Amino acid sequence: MITLHDLQFAPFIAEEKISKAIDKLTDKLNEDLSSKKPLFIGVLNGAFMFASEVLKRFDHDCEVSFVKLASYQGTETTDNVQELIGLKEDISGRTVVVLEDIVDTGNTIVELTKKLQDKGCKEVRIATLFFKPEAYTKEITIDYIGIEIPNRFIVGYGLDYDGLGRNLTEVYQLKQNNMTNLVLFGPPGAGKGTQAEVLKQKYDLVHISTGDVFRYNIKNATELGTLAKSYIDKGQLVPDEVTINMLNAEVDKNADAKGFIFDGFPRTEAQAASLAELLSSKGSEVSAMVALEVDDEVLVGRLLERGKTSGRPDDADEGVIRNRIKVYYDETAILKNYYQKQDKYFGVDGVGDIAEITERLSDVIDKL
Ligand code: AMP
Repeated sequence: MITLHDLQFAPFIAEEKISKAIDKLTDKLNEDLSSKKPLFIGVLNGAFMFASEVLKRFDHDCEVSFVKLASYQGTETTDNVQELIGLKEDISGRTVVVLEDIVDTGNTIVELTKKLQDKGCKEVRIATLFFKPEAYTKEITIDYIGIEIPNRFIVGYGLDYDGLGRNLTEVYQLKQNNMTNLVLFGPPGAGKGTQAEVLKQKYDLVHISTGDVFRYNIKNATELGTLAKSYIDKGQLVPDEVTINMLNAEVDKNADAKGFIFDGFPRTEAQAASLAELLSSKGSEVSAMVALEVDDEVLVGRLLERGKTSGRPDDADEGVIRNRIKVYYDETAILKNYYQKQDKYFGVDGVGDIAEITERLSDVIDKL
């Protein structure tokens, strides 16, 4: 997360992905324009970085110029596109490739194309690093597109927020501050499920328990259920790839959520990294890991008790219970470290009345 002026931005598109998109886009330019001696026109200020990367990859004779025609003020796009300045070249009869950092509503490129055609240019092609299909309202074809993005405000790689952020080598998006995403943590039997039920009502969050989703799939004999069952019955973790795909699908089902309570996820560092990526793609992040701390012997007692009525085979066998607790300490407890490093770990005493424990958890959540 970075702060520019008064706003926070979350990582969105990594440098490597941008670089690959520019490789691909320029391959096409090399193919299409090998004998046309094009004039590349970069639109300042935003396109300077993209223009430089395209030109480094363009293998044929060409010329380069830059013009100015800004259409952004703050985070709102406005209709008052300004004057074209900086074009000294005679462009009559030439092939011009406009290099844009981003095509949003399309106002700028319509304006610019018109001005270039008025100056007698034979052919105008548009190449843009980023394109927002949902925001685009114009007819002009965008000939070369690097990366399509949803309609969000982004900075970095030449793009700015009130002057800042142009030098960032990856792209960030405006953080949506209104989401609360809790990772409810603790060993099996710590009371995560019970507390999640209370907290989801209290804070209007969507509760996703990966264990519950697996059990639902097992009950309905889905492909996922069959796959997960062999691991769950032994108290082992289901492989990351399976779990991560399932979690992503559950999050996607709740696109309008104000936030999530993740219960039983992440359980490995790979899952934590993938959760960070998923939330970051929504302009958000994990707000906190709140961990219920309960002594092992208390856990075994609680789970055996629960096993009498829960119908869960993994609660009925003390060996499987102890294995689940062991797996928690061997594989999962490292996540405490992961979130501690980000100052997001909060341990809470998980022994006592349900209401008492909810209060302890709320004390943490209310301060986030
Ligand atoms: P739980 O209901 O959270 O105790 O989960 C029951 C079982 O589901 C676990 O013992 C694992 O076999 C499986 N499981 C649940 N969540 C995950 C996860 N995040 N990663 C891998 N396996 C999981």
